Amino acid sequence: MKFQIDHDYHIHSFLSECSQDPMQDAEHILRYAEENGLKDICLTDHSWDESVCGASDWYRRQSLEHIRRALPLPQSKTVRFHFGCETDMDKHLTIGMSPQALNTLDFLIVPTTHLHMTGFTIDPQDDAVERRAALYIRRFEALLDAPYPQNKVGIAHLTCSLIAPRGEYLQVIDLVPDAVFRTLFTKTAQRGFGVELNMPAVYGSDRELSSALRPYRIAKQCGCKFYLGSDAHHPEDFEGIPAQFRALAELLDLRESDKFRPFG
Ligand SMILES: [Zn+2]
Ligand SMILES: [Zn+2]
Repeated sequence: MKFQIDHDYHIHSFLSECSQDPMQDAEHILRYAEENGLKDICLTDHSWDESVCGASDWYRRQSLEHIRRALPLPQSKTVRFHFGCETDMDKHLTIGMSPQALNTLDFLIVPTTHLHMTGFTIDPQDDAVERRAALYIRRFEALLDAPYPQNKVGIAHLTCSLIAPRGEYLQVIDLVPDAVFRTLFTKTAQRGFGVELNMPAVYGSDRELSSALRPYRIAKQCGCKFYLGSDAHHPEDFEGIPAQFRALAELLDLRESDKFRPFG
């Protein structure tokens, strides 16, 4: 069966500092899910567990205690609303969520690609695309070594524009050889971590499209499981998301058997 568009596991609320949009509350998010026939959604506000040292000022204001203000989440007859978060990895490869804290969450997404936080996730001297490609690989490896359980962790937006400024992010991706991606995604499948689909389905050229899709095509060959994430921060961000999800599933020719299922 074709991959069903029935979930969204990367959604921010007003509690994320990059949202702060009073309209982006749990009720609105639940309505988006109901109107689009989604069965499972997960709230993933930015957070750094207060028991892990090294939070930046920005993350210190977004502790677990802060994002737990969203609880209890509203539920509906047709939608299960789960509680997770999007943490981060600093430049020392420390991930801002302890396995103990993860026990208190339904789901965790970890971006290895937040390379826009100069000083926190990347040193200023690592600006060149070659250095960013090396860091991309090292950070991905570090996540795969994290002591997290199976089926509870998603790897967020592996091909996002935050990887490099000046629109160079696809150049960085192009510098990662197929064989390296194969090693990384083979281990991803073994660890039972999900691969997030959270990128445009349309690019300026066919070449860019194939650069953006290459990692996911390899991931699929390696047996990885995929989930959808809108990364919405505002109500208007949901517009066009179901169509984008459908296009991505189509481009990668995904089946239901390719789906990551953290919630059973
Ligand atoms: Zn992110
Ligand atoms: Zn996000």
